Amino acid sequence: MRAIRRFTVRPVLPEALSGLATLAGNLRWSWHPETQDVFASIDTRLWDEVNHDPVRLLGAVGRARLDELSGDHDFLHRLGVATDSLEAYLTGERWYSRRAGDDAPRSIAYFSPEYGITAVLPQYSGGLGILAGDHLKAASDLGIPVVGVGLFYRHGYFKQSLSREGWQQETYPVLDPDELPLTLLREADGSRAVVSIAMPGGSDLLARIFVAHVGRVPLLLLDSDIEENPQHYRDVTDRLYGGNSEHRLRQELLLGVGGVRALRAYSRITGAPAPEVFHTNEGHAGFLGIERIRELTVGDGPALDFDTALEVSRAGTVFTTHTPVPAGIDRFPRELIQQYFGGGSSPTPGVPADRVLALGAEDYDGGDAGVFNMAVMGFRLAQRANGVSQLHGHVSRGMFNGLWPAFDEAEVPIGSITNGVHGPTWIAREIFEIGAELGADVGGDDTDALWPLVDQIPGRRLWDLKRTLRARLVDDARARLAKSSARRGFAPAELGWIETALDPDVLTIGFARRVPSYKRLTLMLRDPDRLKRILLDPERPVQLVIAGKSHPADDGGKKLIQELVRFADDPEVRHRIVFLPNYDIAMAQPLYPGCDVWLNNPLRPYEACGTSGMKAALNGGLNLSILDGWWDEWYDGNNGWAIPSADGVDDVDRRDDLEADALYDLIENEVAPRFYDVDEEGVPTRWLEMVRHTLKSLGPKVLATRQVRDYVRELYAPAARTSRALNSDYAGARSLAAWKSTVRAGWPSVRVEHVESGGVGDVAEVGASFAVRAFVALADLSPDDVEVQVVHGRAGADDELHDATTSVMHVVESYDGNRHRFDADVPLDRSGAFGYTVRVVPRNAALASVSEMGLVAVPA
Ligand SMILES: *Cc1c(COP(=O)(O)O)cnc(C)c1O
Repeated sequence: MRAIRRFTVRPVLPEALSGLATLAGNLRWSWHPETQDVFASIDTRLWDEVNHDPVRLLGAVGRARLDELSGDHDFLHRLGVATDSLEAYLTGERWYSRRAGDDAPRSIAYFSPEYGITAVLPQYSGGLGILAGDHLKAASDLGIPVVGVGLFYRHGYFKQSLSREGWQQETYPVLDPDELPLTLLREADGSRAVVSIAMPGGSDLLARIFVAHVGRVPLLLLDSDIEENPQHYRDVTDRLYGGNSEHRLRQELLLGVGGVRALRAYSRITGAPAPEVFHTNEGHAGFLGIERIRELTVGDGPALDFDTALEVSRAGTVFTTHTPVPAGIDRFPRELIQQYFGGGSSPTPGVPADRVLALGAEDYDGGDAGVFNMAVMGFRLAQRANGVSQLHGHVSRGMFNGLWPAFDEAEVPIGSITNGVHGPTWIAREIFEIGAELGADVGGDDTDALWPLVDQIPGRRLWDLKRTLRARLVDDARARLAKSSARRGFAPAELGWIETALDPDVLTIGFARRVPSYKRLTLMLRDPDRLKRILLDPERPVQLVIAGKSHPADDGGKKLIQELVRFADDPEVRHRIVFLPNYDIAMAQPLYPGCDVWLNNPLRPYEACGTSGMKAALNGGLNLSILDGWWDEWYDGNNGWAIPSADGVDDVDRRDDLEADALYDLIENEVAPRFYDVDEEGVPTRWLEMVRHTLKSLGPKVLATRQVRDYVRELYAPAARTSRALNSDYAGARSLAAWKSTVRAGWPSVRVEHVESGGVGDVAEVGASFAVRAFVALADLSPDDVEVQVVHGRAGADDELHDATTSVMHVVESYDGNRHRFDADVPLDRSGAFGYTVRVVPRNAALASVSEMGLVAVPA
């Protein structure tokens, strides 16, 4: 029989155990093993049954056990220690208040379409979400006043299983918010807070707001599944990355526009300070900038004109681009945007549709006039932007050069901050325990104290630890295989082999990630016989643990999974290669520490950063990877291996062949021999040297605490500074908008008329300098509006300047009011072919870079 209605009965805890609700209500438990111990000790079997989910555990444990625990002094003591620890974590002084500086932002809003925080809150599909989760956790650890904003998806992404034939199956279990670590945001009178957004057709899209507590960081999740909405609006938050364009647009309107409104409600209700900086994690949340412009122009705010509001909003907005893969960027048909923003009931009423359309227009060489591009809008609405590794920053500057066509790629105003991962979430607890034994204080802001101690860990100890971690992975993998095989329809009698699948003493290589084609899941299958020989080598066997989800609409990806599963189903190799369905945080946590080697073979340069290899490294795993993303930056020759990539080979098959061969060679000749080269005690000392070096060299770099500190220093604090300068009474923004308009209008008349230099002939010596003199016509602009620069550097064969630097020229004389002479002395600080030119760029203290306006004048 089916119920006609359902609701959830919340457990009532005995007074003495109320601390359990406090612990379950803050997700800090998910990266605090001691708190997990408290839950586990309530009922170990039940804890496993509910997949380590505190809320479900408390709902399932019986009254009798709770009464028993209320009188258990030992338990109550441990509970008290855990709640005290949480309290101290939430209220203690942290890095931000000590080190970030007085002018650091009072509050930062962080927008992301997905958040991967813990397996029990499945609101993520992959790397982007895990990164967002780690960002919030690290911000919490450092005491950075971040508020997260996202959507609550009724089905999350999807659960992956396999058919008998190895074809990916998707299921969409319904998540009941009452059974999740969420609280509903309520108004002072107890009614629930609701945001509403006008939609074409008349009826508003409404959403309630859930709050998840990620340590010190609140995360607001908007949910449209409420009775007041018509069904098609209730479905707006049905699942991640599903549906057609219009569905995606509605989700993104809810995230961006609704997200800002949710923040306002949150501040109004809780008294939290209004955010000074808005950070959008990828372009999906870009409409937040339009909503802020609405507030500033026609809302209750200061009634600014559009251009002034744009300056105010841009100054405080940071945009992070995450992918060089065009399919990863949202593009909508322009008519759809026109239909939403141009009708009688716009989501941001009063903001002209043509201005919105212009912000997302691909009006540059090679652009598509028919689309509205969310990344392009992201760059135009944010004064500061970055990619997620050095290489990705470089690739992004090339990819988006069209937005600043007057500038060379190197000066495109997109910086980079390399991603990181949250130590306490991803480092096996045993490693922290060794650290603590050796006297490291790792309970503070971060884990920096751990790395210098690595050399003090005896080799035997380190090797035993790796075996423990490998054995844990083997156990977990066998349990998953057994479940998956039963689901695929294999009879119990066919499954005996699983008990001995994988081996805790065999070199273990991991490979897990989403399955878009550039990640090349099946590169290892290029030469199946050779792979077989590697796996089955009698002296130096290798085992592979593989996982990954394909987007439900991507049959190509599903084919790759099937190919792999079929290979792994072969009785000859199935004990050495396994595909584990449903890659998620719960699988990932034992997976990274259990692997000796982490394999990554994307098609360079499509991996923007990649973070799974960082998580492996933090657990002493060695990376075996194409030099892409973060590995391109931090591979140093001793912390793992670089798979040579055949960049420039255009024939895709040939490139795959070359790179696969290189991969096999490395495993056969370098990786396996080193792993199995053991001393008389059975310890592979040369391997452990690399493990230690990996921990010491990468440990401090790959942490999310490093990443988030970089965001504060390089982006959040400067954004807050500019934004305050423009916002205090909006005079700064008004004059900036007016100045930009004057400069744009006057720029066509700006000319470098004549350049002279003196002091050196054709041959000069290092240490000398030479004088440059430029005569510049500025027409209506004044010398204060511009910077005249000598750009100088190494001159290539084509006279192209390389490694160029700039020297500022100073105005020394003016003629007829609009012609000026500028002078500079340029030091010759290196030998070789030297070249220079002169250029004029706009100058204003409120600009974040010389290229921001895209204007430059050079000699004719
Ligand atoms: C870390 C992680 C990812 C992202 O890994 P990439 O290396 O960026 O592909 C995806 N899914 C899960 C579950 C993860 O833990």
